[in-house]
Amino acid sequence: MDKYDILKKYFGYDSFRPGQETLVDAILEGRDTLGIMPTGAGKSLCYQVPALLMPGITLVISPLISLMKDQVTTLNQAGIHAAYLNSSLTQGQYLIALRNMRRGQYKIVYVAPERLLTESFQEAVRGITLSMVSVDEAHCISQWGQDFRPSYLKIHDFIETLPVRPVISAFTATATREVREDILALLDLRDPVTLTTGFDRKNLKFIVQHPRDKMKTVLEYLKDHEQECGIIYCLTRKTVEEVCERLQREGYSATRYHAGLSDRERQQNQEAFIYDQKQIMVATNAFGMGIDKSNIRYVIHYNMPKNIESYYQEAGRAGRDGLPSECILLYAGQDVITNQFFIEKMEGSEAMDDETARQVQERERERLKKMTFYCTTNECLRAYILGYFGEYGSNYCGNCSNCLTQFEESDVTGIAANLVGCVRESRWTYGMTMIIDTVHGSKNAKVLRGRMNENPYYGSCEEVPLYQLRQVMNHLILNGYLQLTDDNYPVVRLAERSGELLEGKTVTMKVAKEQPKEKRKPEKEKNRKLPKMGQDVDPELFAQLRELRLEMARKEKVPPYIIFSDKTLAQMCTLRPRTRAQMLEVSGVGEFKYEKYGEQFLQKIRELSADGTIPEKPEPPEETSVGEAEENISGQEKKSGKRAVKQSLS
Ligand code: ADP
Ligand code: MG
Repeated sequence: MDKYDILKKYFGYDSFRPGQETLVDAILEGRDTLGIMPTGAGKSLCYQVPALLMPGITLVISPLISLMKDQVTTLNQAGIHAAYLNSSLTQGQYLIALRNMRRGQYKIVYVAPERLLTESFQEAVRGITLSMVSVDEAHCISQWGQDFRPSYLKIHDFIETLPVRPVISAFTATATREVREDILALLDLRDPVTLTTGFDRKNLKFIVQHPRDKMKTVLEYLKDHEQECGIIYCLTRKTVEEVCERLQREGYSATRYHAGLSDRERQQNQEAFIYDQKQIMVATNAFGMGIDKSNIRYVIHYNMPKNIESYYQEAGRAGRDGLPSECILLYAGQDVITNQFFIEKMEGSEAMDDETARQVQERERERLKKMTFYCTTNECLRAYILGYFGEYGSNYCGNCSNCLTQFEESDVTGIAANLVGCVRESRWTYGMTMIIDTVHGSKNAKVLRGRMNENPYYGSCEEVPLYQLRQVMNHLILNGYLQLTDDNYPVVRLAERSGELLEGKTVTMKVAKEQPKEKRKPEKEKNRKLPKMGQDVDPELFAQLRELRLEMARKEKVPPYIIFSDKTLAQMCTLRPRTRAQMLEVSGVGEFKYEKYGEQFLQKIRELSADGTIPEKPEPPEETSVGEAEENISGQEKKSGKRAVKQSLS
């Protein structure tokens, strides 16, 4: 058997994804490797495939029990012998697992880093051949990241104790230089093959909204996505409680997760979500590390998170299966204030000296500012995120709310001049809100107390909506017409280019026009249940297959997506297999899984076709995967796609 046979037989896939094969080959040549690939790219396969081809056992170090469990269940379901060694096992179970490992019953063993140097584990390892040590979530070794685990530092010590050094491979989705250097150094990778794939997740659609009523926006969204699983992230426990309670009251299948709940409840709620018993998880950022659930169709941020790193990580939990998914951020000015509050509170809470604490806070403020710009920019959102991580590319993706909204070049000179004039004429320096409130002619207490109603520009933009004033203000700051100071309470000051404005320079900016509601609606309703799976997916068939999957998952006590992913079910709907051979063509159906589940799915498809519940099989589609189809679009077509969007809206 070679790597392709393994890929097909056990995992049911026909080809490797970008980057995977290079890493598999490197490992098989005995080279140390470091793979840096975004969430959902398929890092696990990079060590699982070679593990099955190497003579001995592969140890996989993983930071979380839930991750290990998920992976081992997936492997066992694919017919691969694997086990995990961590604190979720009783002493008895642990010893049995160790014994089985010594007897060579597992090809892949997941182990918690804390176990590596224990007497019993060392003893067990002495009698076996280790082909590879693979470090998953390798960024946990770095103190630069957010997920530092001191026990990861033991991995190197452990490797030193081995009589023969195995191949070392490491994988992470964190791209920063510091983290990468830490991994290479602290794991002591020798002449490694390092591979970084792009960080773009083409199947994710990025959306920013500034709704007046967030709850209403969420409820409207959910009404259109009733069949789907999603996460709603909130900044505080209190918001989690409020949102979750409201959703439950409205009849949604929602559960919650935050650090204020008991371990038991957190565990239960997490499982309910993973096993598809609850559809919606409302949570703080405490939730998600170690969630490999592949069929999360949307991640809504009810509040703006503290920085782009967190945002991309959390939003990235959507669409691991590669199907189109949505990442929606609901922004409000209050989110900035809440985050600032968290940053101020950081002080003294950690064991660092004052100077370091100050620097850390400074950095966090800077990151918050960039996060805030994400919410207000008119640029392509994807380009903004990728640029933040140092990847530059096209500034039009066609799949984010900015690219998809009709842009309108608008002359904002009047508004701009009033804002700058107001700053110049203020007797004192103020934050953005005060300036905006002043030109808007607000009578709130702050404005009156600061006697800003005496400013000559007071009320000069009375008719301009506040959100638009904010957009112009941001544009002015971004383009150097005004500046925002770096203090605890950032204030607006004149900047280098302020003079140009006062001299009458014209300022234009792209302003996103509100899309007419009537135009959007029919499109939504057309394909309500399955807007994303493609035209050939019959909703009824898909629903029935999903039902069948859920039944089997309950019987087997595994999460449904581990039996077959949504993507695999969707492909069954398009291909409508009738025979074993045809079923094995479906991506994600390996031989072992076929033996276990294939017949029942075939049977279901036959039944539904015979009794006319579903129409005849449509013409075979040209593309088999949405992700691939998207990647095939050339730059030329993309551009014409943009024009088409514009035309259809105008
Ligand atoms: P990562 O660890 O990089 O976030 P995973 O290893 O969990 O990603 O893989 C994400 C999903 O992609 C899984 O459902 C996996 O089965 C699927 N996958 C991985 N490799 C392939 C492939 N070559 N073809 C199709 N699907 C794949
Ligand atoms: Mg992974």
